[in-house]
Amino acid sequence: MKVKLWGTRGSVPVTGKNYCKYGGNTPCIEVSMSDEFVFIFDAGSGIRKLGSKLTKEKIQKDIFLFFSHFHSDHIIGLPFFAPFYNKDYTISIYGAPYIYDSIEEIIDLILKPPLFAITKDEFKSKFSFHNIDENFSFKYGELKVETIKLNHSHPTLGFKITNDKKTVVYFTDNELIQNNHSSENLEKLIYNNHKELLDFCKNVDILIHDSSYSINDYNSRVGWGHSSNFAAAMFAHLAKVKSLYLFHYDPEYDDAFIDKLLDETKFFLQEIGSEVNCVASSDEMEINF
Ligand SMILES: [Zn+2]
Repeated sequence: MKVKLWGTRGSVPVTGKNYCKYGGNTPCIEVSMSDEFVFIFDAGSGIRKLGSKLTKEKIQKDIFLFFSHFHSDHIIGLPFFAPFYNKDYTISIYGAPYIYDSIEEIIDLILKPPLFAITKDEFKSKFSFHNIDENFSFKYGELKVETIKLNHSHPTLGFKITNDKKTVVYFTDNELIQNNHSSENLEKLIYNNHKELLDFCKNVDILIHDSSYSINDYNSRVGWGHSSNFAAAMFAHLAKVKSLYLFHYDPEYDDAFIDKLLDETKFFLQEIGSEVNCVASSDEMEINF
């Protein structure tokens, strides 16, 4: 399975000389197995570059695009996704409609003047919309996708993608503990409150998890819909995942800060005797496993 991270930043894209190592694009993840089709999770600003790669290579013409939710950092790249403007592509779009009747209504809200110059009527590709929710399961080729509900300010889906050997879970925008916490009380809080999420992630190979804030910063951002690095690490430890990928960094965090965030998280995992391997996601990082 190939997993490529095209955008790993939260909230708003960032750029500048202090953001070169980890990158500044907002969430977009590619998961694929073959040249036949590709699964994409979220259409943050990272999807623009993925779209231009796909149309240059002209191989994966079947695209399945899954939205975790429709906050702007997860949709901002949508109008700039090149396959929409090419008749050779078939794009199936999945997401939870929230208070609307369908996700097509939500896409229509975004893709129209004055927010954007054109509407979806200009798309040349074939495209379709599919309303999904938690407990959704879908299999195409060798890949299976399952969903679960996360803890965010608006309904957000987490995804588990499996082939016959490997599993990756994508939990963006997930606030595990909606309270001040420290390294001492985390185990109990997560174990008692997240049995379902822990089960969903049990023994997975890769967990990409919201780690928007350092433990210090989190305590002044309670209820903002995002997790601290320590909460993500304890969750990964209790779920016995093999590798945790820190994800959805606060736009204020530059490369030096994310280096520190990674060191601090690794040290915490070591202190609790965890065997979880911890990695800091970065734009265009590719994982083959
Ligand atoms: Zn987000």
